Amino acid sequence: MNTYYTTIGLEIHAELKTKTKMFSSALNNPDEENPNVNIDPVSLAHPGTLPTINKQAVEHVIKVGLALNGDIANFTEFDRKNYFYPDIPKGYQISQYKYPIVSGGHLAGVDITRVHLEEDTGTSKHDRGDFSLVDYNRAGVPLMELVTEPCIHTPEDAGKFGRELQTLLQYLEVSDANMEKGEMRVELNISISPSKEKFGTKVEVKNINSFRAVERAAKYEIARMTDLYEAGRENEIVQETRGWDETKQSTFSQRSKENSEDYRYFPDPDLPKMYLHEMFDLNKIKESLPELPEQKRVRFANDFGIKAEDIEVYINDKILADYFEGVVSKIGENKESYKTVSNLITSDFIGLKKGNEDVKLPSLENFAELASLFTEGKISSRAAKDILGMIVLNDESPVSIAEKNRMFQSNDTGPIEEIAKKLIEENGSVVEDYKNGKENALMFFVGRIMKESKGSANPSIVKEVLIKLLS
Ligand code: ADP
Ligand code: MG
Repeated sequence: MNTYYTTIGLEIHAELKTKTKMFSSALNNPDEENPNVNIDPVSLAHPGTLPTINKQAVEHVIKVGLALNGDIANFTEFDRKNYFYPDIPKGYQISQYKYPIVSGGHLAGVDITRVHLEEDTGTSKHDRGDFSLVDYNRAGVPLMELVTEPCIHTPEDAGKFGRELQTLLQYLEVSDANMEKGEMRVELNISISPSKEKFGTKVEVKNINSFRAVERAAKYEIARMTDLYEAGRENEIVQETRGWDETKQSTFSQRSKENSEDYRYFPDPDLPKMYLHEMFDLNKIKESLPELPEQKRVRFANDFGIKAEDIEVYINDKILADYFEGVVSKIGENKESYKTVSNLITSDFIGLKKGNEDVKLPSLENFAELASLFTEGKISSRAAKDILGMIVLNDESPVSIAEKNRMFQSNDTGPIEEIAKKLIEENGSVVEDYKNGKENALMFFVGRIMKESKGSANPSIVKEVLIKLLS
């Protein structure tokens, strides 16, 4: 089989979080369950109505542009993108064509072409038999569109970019960017080519509602196009829009691609031009940006020295991240302890929580106390996990739990020897194994002693005692 080079570019829409719609005072409420509630003469395109620009939506896109290190245009304007469909009652969508708010920028190793602002459409329901219903709650909701350069080369990197953008939008609080709710929508442009120098014909895949589906749709298209090339039928790869079928896990042809000429774009005469550098204090907006995911990654790695996987957990879970930082601030300078705290949170706490809805984060003080008991060698890791299991249900002081249950690690060899002797007697074959050089045999006894001592034995002392008794 020949080698083919994959090229991917993404077009991503995100509904912006604003109080009102893009060009009118109707509410922007994605959680509204009744149809046609958040509507007004402008979003229904009644004759004679005029749009007014939602400044908050413009500022949201500027924030995204600054976070991506893109250029914020000074001059920008809105254009009419003409097409007819019942969910777009004006007969055109207000969008941006020649002068987007943002040009350039980077994220997750991907070059951004542009970010512009437009309005969302209404939603149609075609599942009622011989008629359709249209809900205009979403018509006119501010919508951001981000376009990447064709510089992504694997399905995984496409998914990674989407996830990273979602996280960024959530950090900036400009969009909830929930894919299942359609608040973020990814269109996949993909082509393959036998030569690195020349792009192949691209198809655009729509109707993708998860990042996993982005990756799967890309893989499906690569396989489909590769088969056509291999069969000498590459002329059957045509520029078209395809849909992703989640049930069949495949794509299907929807329509041949329209060209931008088809939309007869022209500047909207009802809206004023914008001079963003005069309308906004860009430096002030830049300074007001929150800590961004990438900055947080770097800070967590430098300040706390914890594992990259743990950091990813915190990047995606603000509550756990803030909790971790809160516990750490109670401990003082001690990177070993930070690792203990982080392990207890990312593996033990999350595990406990999965199994039981009553599991809650303990107070910062109690969690810090638990971590210190372990790092100071006062309790074993087994005991630390057991105490965590208790304080997530009933938030008590770990010191008093350890006292009550005699969980403090003891350096007294007497009781350990007693248990060890008994176990050695009972497990002759394991003793044989040990004598034949099997390391696991020793660990078997260590484990059993730790268990029988309810974690109060110090594992290194247990080992010493065992080696002495077994030699
Ligand atoms: P169109 O005119 O068809 O809308 P654009 O040039 O505007 O195409 O690009 C739309 C998207 O498709 C962008 O994300 C871009 O990176 C991507 N793209 C362009 N050419 C290709 C290609 N040959 N293979 C894959 N993606 C491409
Ligand atoms: Mg285009």
